Amino acid sequence: MIKVEEKLYQNRYRVDADRPHIRIRNPELCNEQCDTHACTVCCPAGCWSFEDGKIGLITDGCLECGTCRVICDKFANVDWNYPRAGFGILFKFG
Ligand code: SF4
Ligand code: SF4
Repeated sequence: MIKVEEKLYQNRYRVDADRPHIRIRNPELCNEQCDTHACTVCCPAGCWSFEDGKIGLITDGCLECGTCRVICDKFANVDWNYPRAGFGILFKFG
């Protein structure tokens, strides 16, 4: 049976350089007021990080699932959009 990681490896991603489709509205809020940093544990693509007291987001490889936007319900600090046409994830194996 094919593992999830192997399926994900089959996907292809086209980066829209300098135009990330997800942005953090106020990183200071993440760094200083959010006590869960839930986005860092819920993202299946590992786009979010919290290290040395700072939030990090790299949208390359984002699966466009929208979980980070939903999980940040307390602060609504995720500005989420689909990538422009022709960019983003190209799914294989459904
Ligand atoms: S859950 Fe929201 S407020 Fe908390 S670190 Fe993530 S984006 Fe920032
Ligand atoms: S939309 Fe999904 S895959 Fe993309 S950054 Fe948010 S949680 Fe991660």
